[in-house]
Amino acid sequence: MKHTGKRLRALALAAAMVLLMTGIAAGRIQGTLAAPAAAQSTPTLQQMYGTLGQYTKGPEAIKARISGNTLTIDVYVNFTGSYNAKIDGQTYAALAKKGIRLWAGSYTGSRWDFRPGMGFSVRVNVMDIYNGAGRLPGQNYFDFVCRTDLGRSYVNYSTGFYNRELLGTGQGAIVNRGYTNGAVVMYNGLSKRYTANQYAKVSAHEFGHVLGLGDLYKRGIASTPECPQGKFYAEGDIMATQGRVTPNNIEMFLEAYRTGWYQAYLNSGYEVKSKAIKSY
Ligand SMILES: [Zn+2]
Repeated sequence: MKHTGKRLRALALAAAMVLLMTGIAAGRIQGTLAAPAAAQSTPTLQQMYGTLGQYTKGPEAIKARISGNTLTIDVYVNFTGSYNAKIDGQTYAALAKKGIRLWAGSYTGSRWDFRPGMGFSVRVNVMDIYNGAGRLPGQNYFDFVCRTDLGRSYVNYSTGFYNRELLGTGQGAIVNRGYTNGAVVMYNGLSKRYTANQYAKVSAHEFGHVLGLGDLYKRGIASTPECPQGKFYAEGDIMATQGRVTPNNIEMFLEAYRTGWYQAYLNSGYEVKSKAIKSY
């Protein structure tokens, strides 16, 4: 009997333990289904990238910071040339600033960029001066040169040789010593004059180069949702032709900001394919 009693007590104890464990398991399931766990799986922009404070020295012409799900980009630009010439009543400078601000907006992540469904916003502050007047001491400004003739607009550094700290200075691997490193040399049309919208879009594309991004067009890359090629005046990628700013463009910018490296779409010549590109 004594022996059987021990066995019964052992069985009862085992049963109690099973119940206890079932209770723990139930609690776990409840915890998994609760809202806080879902929030944990989608980090904020700041949790992914930090504030960016450690990458900013002070005088740079492009300065970025992150707070929560907001990325703020400060842009210091010096307009020169025919910035007061107009298209449909708007000056080249006004249209260029409109283009630079096309990088601002609300974005959603995907399987290729940031995290799927993750929402964040980008703010762009443009600090513009003209012919160097009123420049803040110790602050670099990249030139934005407005021309009134036709040509292929470009940014003044050699392809693959981006350096954010040198933007707005006379140093670095630059194409034209008459302009600052990272100067946008903006023509008023390619084969014919730009419309106001085209001028803003081309300015946004060139600004993408100032931010450290390479060209997407003419690279033979298939269109993907991450990097849509687009066509003229269609909604492709801004680093293709006349497109829009995509979450991937923002991711490439953040990569350039943190590493100091030029962000290309393919390995080609001095260009190294960006880690931000994951769809091909
Ligand atoms: Zn380009």
